[in-house]
Amino acid sequence: MSLTYRNPFPSELYGGRLTIDPDAVAANWTFLNGKLDSKAECAAAVKADAYGIGLKAATAALYQAGCRTFFVAVPTEAIELRALLPDAVIYVLDGLFPGTAGHFLEHHIRPVLGSLAELQDWAALCKSADRSFDAAVHVDTGIHRLGLSPAEFSAAMSDRDLLGPVVPSLIMSHLACGSTPDHPMNRRQLELFREVTAPFADVPRSLANSAGVLMGADYHFDLARPGIALYGGKAIETASNPMKPVVKVEARIMIVRDVPEGDTIGYGARQTARRPLRNAVVAAGYADGMIRRASSTDERPGGFAMIGGHKAPILGRISMDMITLDVTDVPEHLLRRGALVEMLGPTVAAADLAAYAQTIDYEYLTSLGRRFERVYGPLT
Ligand SMILES: *Cc1c(COP(=O)(O)O)cnc(C)c1O
Repeated sequence: MSLTYRNPFPSELYGGRLTIDPDAVAANWTFLNGKLDSKAECAAAVKADAYGIGLKAATAALYQAGCRTFFVAVPTEAIELRALLPDAVIYVLDGLFPGTAGHFLEHHIRPVLGSLAELQDWAALCKSADRSFDAAVHVDTGIHRLGLSPAEFSAAMSDRDLLGPVVPSLIMSHLACGSTPDHPMNRRQLELFREVTAPFADVPRSLANSAGVLMGADYHFDLARPGIALYGGKAIETASNPMKPVVKVEARIMIVRDVPEGDTIGYGARQTARRPLRNAVVAAGYADGMIRRASSTDERPGGFAMIGGHKAPILGRISMDMITLDVTDVPEHLLRRGALVEMLGPTVAAADLAAYAQTIDYEYLTSLGRRFERVYGPLT
């Protein structure tokens, strides 16, 4: 799939390049869809600009692969997506903000009703029109963010006065500990979800995010809502990542220089050269999504980049616009001024960097900079 995306400036003027492979997103969706029973549907979470990779490119690839149901977080994202995909089913995970029901009807988007108040608002709308409009009902099975409590859910779902004509198009819940499949919370949530939804056998059910899809058939129900795995992220912390990489971030080498033993590198002078070093300064920093917590000090190692198969550890603090890399052991011919080095991508997994930055790869993806050249195509 090719998507014409025009950068406003010539390539050589950018500090770095962000390459995104929509075909890999499509392949990842096809892989996850293949894990599901043929009766179950594979949807896609495309909130936050499709986890930072670009809503338009991601949804075009997903739709072409066969995906027809999409989850966003907020109504503005849903309206943007509606303009791109006129006939897709679109759910808004954050549910019904006050006074917004009319917008949902106008754009044919569906709220995921996350509280009794939201369900009552929606029911009032349906009563006044004397028909049901499609909406999901969210039941909280233990994460304690959004969702009716199991008791509220069971009471509301059998209260015809409250519901009026409302027939939910989906009942869903969300896993708190999917990234660690052995956590006992997963089974507890699964069993509670089965129990509270049992009386409503004709309403489709959804529990699985990416991790839920990979955890096996018990978690699949009628519809799965993967996000991170579509974008190459690591949904399960304790297993190897089966997904194709989707994103590559490269930064341009500005200068390569020597640092004498005993001198310090970067803001705060927290990193001392323990031997004579060669370092390369590249044009990407925390303003480009290179999370500052992956900085290195004398006490704690930081993240790394890869240059032609050679590891180049981050030296010192990550600045807003640049990072210093230890290239002492990288062959000189790979260190040309102006060359691009991989900061994140097929050989620098976001999940690995995230371990140094005390975060998760989701944060790396959704922080991807707006200052790079953007290329949609294979991650060559
Ligand atoms: C974001 C989100 C998803 C997708 O989760 P991943 O871990 O990215 O697969 C699914 N369901 C809900 C409710 C979400 O908020």
